[in-house]
Amino acid sequence: MTRKRAVKILLTLRKTFTLQKRTTSSRTPFRTLIVTIISQNTADGNTAKAFENLSKQFQITPEALSNAEKSKIEECLKVAGLYRNKAKTIKEVSKIIMEKFHGDLTWISSMPLEEVRNALIQLPGVGPKTADVVLLFSAQKPTIPIDTHVDRVSKRLGLATRNGNYEAVRESLQALYTQKNYLDVHMLLILLGREYCKARNPLCEQCPVNMFCQSRRVQN
Ligand code: SF4
Repeated sequence: MTRKRAVKILLTLRKTFTLQKRTTSSRTPFRTLIVTIISQNTADGNTAKAFENLSKQFQITPEALSNAEKSKIEECLKVAGLYRNKAKTIKEVSKIIMEKFHGDLTWISSMPLEEVRNALIQLPGVGPKTADVVLLFSAQKPTIPIDTHVDRVSKRLGLATRNGNYEAVRESLQALYTQKNYLDVHMLLILLGREYCKARNPLCEQCPVNMFCQSRRVQN
């Protein structure tokens, strides 16, 4: 895939979808971390509901959540899948952030990307995708989180190689786009995956970027 073609895909997606303006005020790194842990293998609506339940019951701070009773966190997260594991992770991660980072994650904005990424990945329940979401959305770091939609769509479009792992897809996308566009690339590929490039039956005929796609399915 050439950069020129990749940019054409981005421009077409920008014309197709409207991205909501993002405010950073309520999105501390810790809040983003907790939302992202809840969202693992969970639909957006249930993630939002679980986070709302948690926010009503507790302050979303490492101090409050490390001291919270696990059963009460579980109760809040019941609407999300794997709620017992997630409650355990949230409590553990909060405790570690209290002990290791004095209850504060705001320092991640001022640290070099790879250094802070490695530090986040050491936390329980935090893999590369969760770390990249926190870094992109709450620390304005130049990284592209690769979720299931971004992975599938990138490979079908030829923005990444078919058998690439998480890091290979991330590096491929980051090489094709400029840093200021990373957030839009992430968001727009998710929207394309949800609305057209579905896992099972991609809607290739209606897809806005089908003219750039090597995997386009032609219907008879
Ligand atoms: S043409 Fe089909 S396979 Fe290609 S991006 Fe669009 S929906 Fe996905």
